[in-house]
Amino acid sequence: MSAEYTDIPDRRNFMIGSIAAAGAAAALVAGAEVANAQQKSAAGGSSGSGTVYTGEVLQGKQVVSQLDVADLEPGKTHSLYFQGVQAPGGQHWYVSVVVAKGIRPGKRFTLTSGVHGDEMSSIRTVQAVMEKLDPTQMSGTVMAVLDIARPAVESMQRRWPNSGRGIDLIDLNREWPGNENGASAASRHAGILFNRLLKPNSDLAIDFHTGTTGLEIAAFIIGDRSIPDVKTMSDLYPIGQMWDDAAYPGVLHNAFVDEGIPCFTPEVGAARTLDREMIALFVEGTMNVLKHYDVIGGSMGRTAADAGMVIGNGAAPIIATHGGLVEYLPKLDEEVKAGQKIAVQRNMFGEVVAEYTSAVNGKMSAYRTDATSEPGNILAFILFNQPSSTTQHGPHADSESSYPE
Ligand SMILES: [Zn+2]
Repeated sequence: MSAEYTDIPDRRNFMIGSIAAAGAAAALVAGAEVANAQQKSAAGGSSGSGTVYTGEVLQGKQVVSQLDVADLEPGKTHSLYFQGVQAPGGQHWYVSVVVAKGIRPGKRFTLTSGVHGDEMSSIRTVQAVMEKLDPTQMSGTVMAVLDIARPAVESMQRRWPNSGRGIDLIDLNREWPGNENGASAASRHAGILFNRLLKPNSDLAIDFHTGTTGLEIAAFIIGDRSIPDVKTMSDLYPIGQMWDDAAYPGVLHNAFVDEGIPCFTPEVGAARTLDREMIALFVEGTMNVLKHYDVIGGSMGRTAADAGMVIGNGAAPIIATHGGLVEYLPKLDEEVKAGQKIAVQRNMFGEVVAEYTSAVNGKMSAYRTDATSEPGNILAFILFNQPSSTTQHGPHADSESSYPE
């Protein structure tokens, strides 16, 4: 996985160079369309830009291509489709948006899910929060954007199927804030959503994820605790682990943060399934956040203090050196010591071909659930604390920061 992260930016930079030149020619041919997109892009960045209804109604939901939640009637919950980028067949990818608009002014929260298409508990967590809201009693606005990577959600896979060079797969959570004239549909989709939906309607945001397919994880949060509102919000979740790190360039929470909108990433269990127990913890935490910022009333639920949250600034990976079946010794959330044996790998004869130990003192955060592994795969992550002078961030900081959020 770490090899993949370092590979993609190089290829993308190469492509952007060649596409930029081609883009000028395309603008001459289809000038009106491109100019229109750029004009809207510029308008989308400013406040009070207004809501644009396309006039379409899909499955009973009105379609918008730009949204200003100030235009919506207070005291109601509004369900809309937001018009994303076009698919190869020419129809748009429509993203599901639910807005609970309070009767009084207040903070505007955005809750996002489905940036990765196999992360179902993230979607259900946001749905469950929205079900609990009564806009006739609320201050401010809560906007849910549920299935952001629509084609990836349709095929229950992490990455966006892009048809540029035959089907290849793009990780949408390395594309933010996107580019409406970018070199892939995924980049353009990110740009359209960020400029016309997410950024203009958010004072604070939370981008929900889960582990990736084939990886089981403990309940935890990724976020930069040096941002005061990120620290405040994270500490309101009754969960056991937090990775205090900004994570990668191009992730949605960093695009928000770069615009002055505090945001972080909760990780709600394993991919593909609905983990009801873990969903309940993240719903409780999110309701606490909305209470803290006076969007809703009510008494606080359990928080990080109640759950004994452990905060680490590193996620140490254990990387497979061989092929074969892998068996893990510690459970998730268990404390491990440096030098402790974490996993044993056997070949098809049953012979032990590798034993893996932890390099750090920490807590088991994640392990691979697909029983076999090839060399180079990440088998497990261990949350730990390293001296801040040696803390490394992002995908180029060797494999230490290769968490597949
Ligand atoms: Zn994810």
